[in-house]
Amino acid sequence: MKLQWGSYTDTGMVRQQNEDALLAEPGLFAVADGMGGHNAGEVASAIAITTLRAALRNGVGDHDQLRELIQQANTAIYTASLDDSTQRGMGTTLTAVAVVHGHHNLVLVANVGDSRTYLLRAGVLERVTLDHSYVQELVNEGVISIEEARQHPRKNIVTRALGIDRNVTVDITPLSLVQGDRLLLSSDGLFDEIPDDEIGAILTRQSDPTMCAEMLVLAANAAGGHDNTSVVVVDVLGDDEIVPVDNIKPVASPSIDVLAAIESIVANEDSSTVSGKRRYSLPKLPKVKMRFGPALFWGSIIAIVVCVLIAVGVFARTGFFLDADSNGNVNIYRGRPGGVLWFDPTLSQRGTVSLDQLPEVAQREVKNHHSFSSSSAAMRYLQSMAALTESTTTTTESSTTTVR
Ligand code: MN
Repeated sequence: MKLQWGSYTDTGMVRQQNEDALLAEPGLFAVADGMGGHNAGEVASAIAITTLRAALRNGVGDHDQLRELIQQANTAIYTASLDDSTQRGMGTTLTAVAVVHGHHNLVLVANVGDSRTYLLRAGVLERVTLDHSYVQELVNEGVISIEEARQHPRKNIVTRALGIDRNVTVDITPLSLVQGDRLLLSSDGLFDEIPDDEIGAILTRQSDPTMCAEMLVLAANAAGGHDNTSVVVVDVLGDDEIVPVDNIKPVASPSIDVLAAIESIVANEDSSTVSGKRRYSLPKLPKVKMRFGPALFWGSIIAIVVCVLIAVGVFARTGFFLDADSNGNVNIYRGRPGGVLWFDPTLSQRGTVSLDQLPEVAQREVKNHHSFSSSSAAMRYLQSMAALTESTTTTTESSTTTVR
């Protein structure tokens, strides 16, 4: 089975930080939507994704292994929430698609909470997962319709999540894929904002999975963007080996100007679709006759340049990421890895953990410069991960004799 995929995540138009996390790697795809005060949701979804990433080396063998893996993520979040009062009660949803080793076309779809996996087959969009939410229960009992559920004031109440309890029940659905199938994993920021038939239309129209993922998120933002939105689009190309084709990293929110431009593209979608493949083109600006003097003209040019510089500056200085220094200490830096233009990242908080004290998966996250919206969220993640190592390795006591 040959797969191709793309992913995109965005904070949206209302929220201050992105508490979603996603994973798109050969053989394992996931979306997690974190919840909890003081940015704890961001920590919960990051722990879930980190734990899942750990299994990638060996892939997924069967139902039990996948269930065990998700239970591990549950334990890691639950334990971290007990250790830190600011993280008490944090949790995350998780929907994941795992390719099963040794089977040609079989995947397992796991779900806890109200993120979803959809299947688009032969132009028909179907939900593979069932939400664990209060409104879904009302739908099951026939009290409200699926369409009413989308608008329901209690739609955000989940009845199951990772990290809330010592144990978690995971729904696992086996799915046989055929060439041409397209899977969509998504957080509720997408389907709470736009109806399923519109999601289906975008999935059908945009063939490139990366562009499609981006398009879906931008459509959710154009419809209000009240929540973080994360999507992974996976295409089944054929029966060969799985090859990573397009590993797109989550990107930061585009500036408002870019959004406005893209919104207008979404509005004029048909005109920009050429033989099934869409290209981005900037909307034509209305022609304005110059009626004012050159002073005003140059004044506005300077104003625009200043605005762009400020936007770049704000972008360059937002966000925190992890990196190891030359002594092997993991520190928290502010800014963007590698810097943007002349804005270099700066040390925000010196970490108390060294790289080799972290579990291997977390070490990889450090090397990938996993980003957080606040320094304290990054610190809590580091501490949770360091605690994981302590609890899984045997501690050897050593005594030092000082000879004078
Ligand atoms: Mn959400």
